[in-house]
Amino acid sequence: MAVLVTGGAGYIGSHAVAALLEKGEEVVIADSLYQGHEQAVLGGKLYIGDLRDEQFLAQVFGENDIDGVIHFAANSLVGESMEDPGKYYHNNVYGTLCLLEQMKKAGVKRIVFSSTAAAYGEPERVPIDEYDRTVPTNAYGETKLAMEKMIRWFDTAHGIKSISLRYFNAAGAHESGKIGEDHHPETHLVPLVLEVALGQREHITVFGDDYPTEDGTCIRDYVHVSDLADAHLLALDRLRQGGESAVYNLGNGLGYSVKQVIETARHVTGHAIPAVTRDRRAGDPAVLVASSARARDELGWSPSRSRLEDIISSSWNWHRTHPEGFKS
Ligand code: UDP
Repeated sequence: MAVLVTGGAGYIGSHAVAALLEKGEEVVIADSLYQGHEQAVLGGKLYIGDLRDEQFLAQVFGENDIDGVIHFAANSLVGESMEDPGKYYHNNVYGTLCLLEQMKKAGVKRIVFSSTAAAYGEPERVPIDEYDRTVPTNAYGETKLAMEKMIRWFDTAHGIKSISLRYFNAAGAHESGKIGEDHHPETHLVPLVLEVALGQREHITVFGDDYPTEDGTCIRDYVHVSDLADAHLLALDRLRQGGESAVYNLGNGLGYSVKQVIETARHVTGHAIPAVTRDRRAGDPAVLVASSARARDELGWSPSRSRLEDIISSSWNWHRTHPEGFKS
């Protein structure tokens, strides 16, 4: 029996593939390589194609004995989703519909879904828990929430059990140093800060230091990508053991400020990392921290790499040795 990982050549997907291979699972990967990298796939059987291509997906399910799916394949840039929501509805929502229809046809009854805490929108309170209201403030979060809901209806109607995992700030890189973050364009804080340390940028821009937080900068929940990968495996195991459909947050529960991230990166890299403060970025809430008590209790998830220093060190190890990402 094999696990199908869609988007398995992407940042988080490739770490999930690595974790599955380390566990001795048979892995099949479906990725369009629009954003993913072939070199990020450390093993398994890679199929290059788009989930919206019915023939392609039928081939993937036809040639393999798939017992569960971990679904990462999606567009995930908030800014882009606001400029081109159609692209997000088409690839994310319609792509997921095509996947579910194939699962139904093939009789595959388990799916672990890579969702996002952007499904909550502006938080009512922090830490956010799974019962809080979901009112996304951008099209990306809206499509992910629509995908979650569609997946649930396929449980009601067809018995396809699902676990949706909502997380914010994935960071860090695999301990082997072979895979890590490689986005074009890069918009995330941790890799941008490390690009300054590598001399690829002159400074890091801090988007606002007048937030109602201790040091005035935004607080976010940074989770090590390998801890996230582990949670997807635990979720799949739970479904294999007959677990019911559920939604879990994944976070470190602590939260770190933009200034703390920059300071830790200075410490880890030994580089001065000049910072320039600018205006706030539109749509950034002051504090986003998830409560993952439920994932800990019910999935037995215990993130072991939550220290900011460990997250940034592993990321630095990747960026330092791969200054041009997978092209290096
Ligand atoms: N941020 C920043 N400068 C940058 C990129 C990000 O100050 O060049 C801030 C951003 O405003 C947010 C935090 O860093 O408060 C994390 O942003 P990122 O884009 O990495 O992830 P997001 O929280 O948007 O998912």
